[in-house]
Amino acid sequence: MKYRITLVYSVIVTIILALLCVGVYFVSLENREALFKKRMVRKAQSSVELLRTGHIDSSMLRVINETSSSLLYDKSVSVYDDKGHVLFMFSDMNIPSVQLTKALQEKVQGTGVYFFKYGYRDAVCVLYGHGNNTYYALAAAYDNDREEWIGFLRLILLGGFLIGVAVTIVSGYIFSLRLVSSISALTNRLDSITTREFSTRLDAGENKDELQQLSTAINGLLDRLQTSFDTQRRFIDNASHELSTPLTVIHSQLDVALQKERAATEYKRVLESVKDDVKGLGFLVRNLLELAKASGSQKGIELSFVRLDELLMRVRTDIKRISPLYEVNLVFDAGMEDATDMGTYGNEHLLYSAIRNIVHNACKFSPDKKADVSLAIEGKYILIFVEDTGPGIPAEELKLIFQPFYRVGKDESKITGSGLGLALAYHIVRLHKGDISVQSELGHGASFKIVLPVISA
Ligand code: ADP
Repeated sequence: MKYRITLVYSVIVTIILALLCVGVYFVSLENREALFKKRMVRKAQSSVELLRTGHIDSSMLRVINETSSSLLYDKSVSVYDDKGHVLFMFSDMNIPSVQLTKALQEKVQGTGVYFFKYGYRDAVCVLYGHGNNTYYALAAAYDNDREEWIGFLRLILLGGFLIGVAVTIVSGYIFSLRLVSSISALTNRLDSITTREFSTRLDAGENKDELQQLSTAINGLLDRLQTSFDTQRRFIDNASHELSTPLTVIHSQLDVALQKERAATEYKRVLESVKDDVKGLGFLVRNLLELAKASGSQKGIELSFVRLDELLMRVRTDIKRISPLYEVNLVFDAGMEDATDMGTYGNEHLLYSAIRNIVHNACKFSPDKKADVSLAIEGKYILIFVEDTGPGIPAEELKLIFQPFYRVGKDESKITGSGLGLALAYHIVRLHKGDISVQSELGHGASFKIVLPVISA
């Protein structure tokens, strides 16, 4: 990874450097040419001006041109009047002057200044007007040290470019080493975390950077994983305990029965007891299977429109079958009267199971064995309340009762149960994108609220 970072970083900076060097090269070149042209224009103009004022004649101007240490090499200057008569003509030794042609005259008319090449030299024709007089000034010269200057510019830019690339590669490598070393430290620390030793957390450090965010996110993930592992471990402990206890009881009952010959009634009594235990085991296993099903996603679960009013009536009938003492008082909200086509989308069997468990609990824990169940619609949701007048649930245990195998006052309670009913209900309701909550005060009963999304048939 460090080589990849270095490479990408170096390539990007090299491209930027190369573009910069090429840009500087061409801009400098252009600038120099513009300066040279400006100098020639000035030479042409100043020649006309000196002649026009009349203070200096052409021989004097020639002397000035000969003696001035100008930067213009192989120069020639000539001035013409508007008729095309030569007013002044000067050129360095053995250098031809630029002649004013008709074509040149035409070309300079528009812009007033016309640049062109004259042999190996650059030349300019300037149209100069003063009062009624018009002059043509022609200047030509050679930018002698241009090549030398270009060579020097190229050398400097190439040197700068190469040094820049070298510095980029070295700094990129050092920078990537630092970056990768922080990630390697993170990886090593993560490697040391095993499922047995899950308490180790990453050091997020002081810098508020992406690495700190990553460490914090991983720590959060580890927290959630640890909670999930702990829950799973607890679940397996509880499940194996709940399954093995009745099996041990069955085993020891059969052992005792088989120790000697017994009367038929005795065998019958043992078999009845074993049957009860097996029934309990069957119930537990069924609940565990349903819990496994409800804990997954909706995938593979049969879904359809479920009318909750009908479902509640079925629960009331079935609860009565568990014990004739149980009574369910069903109340439909006034809004439900004209909303009989309202229900939810889900799995009827699972929803039935969830609601029945809660209603069963209400009847089971109430001294009068009665449960008040009401159904209402509120906006986009359907609400089911299950209330009882039982012992209630201590505030600190309200959240815990939805965990598998959790039972309030497990040891002293005479009321039997598996501790799976509410966990199952919770998972089923969540699977249906709903919510379940409970309100209770110790000694004043409990009120369970199930919220499910409403749809019309
Ligand atoms: P169980 O099979 O023990 O009823 P649940 O998961 O249905 O298992 O309930 C878990 C525990 O929550 C129960 O053991 C009980 O202590 C408590 N609980 C549930 N419903 C009520 C209720 N209506 N009133 C008081 N306690 C309740």
